[in-house]
Amino acid sequence: MRHRPVNPLLHPARATFLAVLALGLAPGASAETVPALPEALVERVVEWRRDFHQNPELSNRETRTAARVAAHLESLGIEIRTGVAHTGVVGVLRGGLPGATVALRADMDALPVTEETGLPFASKVRTTYAGREVGVMHACGHDAHTAILMGAAELLAERRATLPGQVVFLFQPAEEGAPAGERGGARLMIEEGALEDPRPAAVFGLHVVPQYAAGELAYRSGGAMAGSNRLEITVRGRQTHAAYPWMGVDPIAVASRIVLALQAIPGRRMDARLPSIVSFGSIHGGVRHNIIPDEVELLGTIRHLEPSMRDELFERIERTAIKIAESQEALASVSIPDGYPVTYNDPGLTAAMLPSLRAVAGDGLVEGLPRTGAEDFAFFAREIPGLYVWLGIRSPDVAEGDAAPNHSPRFVVDESALPLGVRTLTQLALDFLAQRAMNAP
Ligand SMILES: [Zn+2]
Ligand SMILES: [Zn+2]
Repeated sequence: MRHRPVNPLLHPARATFLAVLALGLAPGASAETVPALPEALVERVVEWRRDFHQNPELSNRETRTAARVAAHLESLGIEIRTGVAHTGVVGVLRGGLPGATVALRADMDALPVTEETGLPFASKVRTTYAGREVGVMHACGHDAHTAILMGAAELLAERRATLPGQVVFLFQPAEEGAPAGERGGARLMIEEGALEDPRPAAVFGLHVVPQYAAGELAYRSGGAMAGSNRLEITVRGRQTHAAYPWMGVDPIAVASRIVLALQAIPGRRMDARLPSIVSFGSIHGGVRHNIIPDEVELLGTIRHLEPSMRDELFERIERTAIKIAESQEALASVSIPDGYPVTYNDPGLTAAMLPSLRAVAGDGLVEGLPRTGAEDFAFFAREIPGLYVWLGIRSPDVAEGDAAPNHSPRFVVDESALPLGVRTLTQLALDFLAQRAMNAP
């Protein structure tokens, strides 16, 4: 793990300053502020986004999207590698001046959701998913992410001659998770060398969210999105007639105690100033009202926002479930398979890039609350310092509470937000390379 804890004995401002220096950055150095996008580029970004929206592809099946991305990068003279983690595209833009490497990431996959927006470019695509016929929709806005990064690639390629270093473009498949039996996403891209040759010194990305209005850009230093793990518990008792419970061991009663005890761990056994969550989404056991079954299965999710909490939280969950079962003469087995790490915004990098975010967003820049959803950008940010920001896409005439959330069949993107996304990624890349170049020996 790469998360460098900041020495708590240091004054926070000084600790942040040292964290900035540790990244080899010259604080305050910045390139030009990226101006408003030319109208022709705005139109192209919107056209790309609508094309992806109308032709969405599920995780690990993003072949059409990837082909469009690859053709665009090649037309800009950017070196590309295709087929990375199945359908991913990695581009490398080599600047005219020597310098560091920075990575920008966009995800390309859609979801098995049947669109209900009524937009003229709404998706009518249908496919078979997990054995059922479903609609396919860009209900998480990855169509916007892909179009935004294509626009940023264009702006950066135009500045190639004066660019001090390299920009790596990570067009990633399967952010929403690979289909059953397949691997994919950021982790597989890393395994297949997406962060090698050249090795980026930092990675930036963004997500469109309706919690913020178009024109707003939100950031958070440290844990920004949750680490997420599936929780599987099997409680074994002994089957008996429900009228004679003492003749067996009741796994339903034990499972109930486990549910209540585990969801109370974040508030009672963990430092409650740092959020964590245990939720159950499924309990199965038994077939009839008057038979106590042998076994109950519980499925849930664990979320945490501070990487250092993870091990203690998992241990307490496992120990509590096992001990409760033991106390009732039942047996609990607990499994917490590998999940998503915390999407951790490096505090030094966040501090160093704040002026860049302010330069493009102005008064629209807001410090956001962490989000308890997970994001597989986290895998990139676990390898190298990362910063992941949220781009507001709610139309100004929609109240915050009325906006359909990500993954809803009514999720919509106010396209007037797209240019700010393009400028944000471009500015972050330019300023990061400028800061590294200023600090170079
Ligand atoms: Zn999503
Ligand atoms: Zn998403």
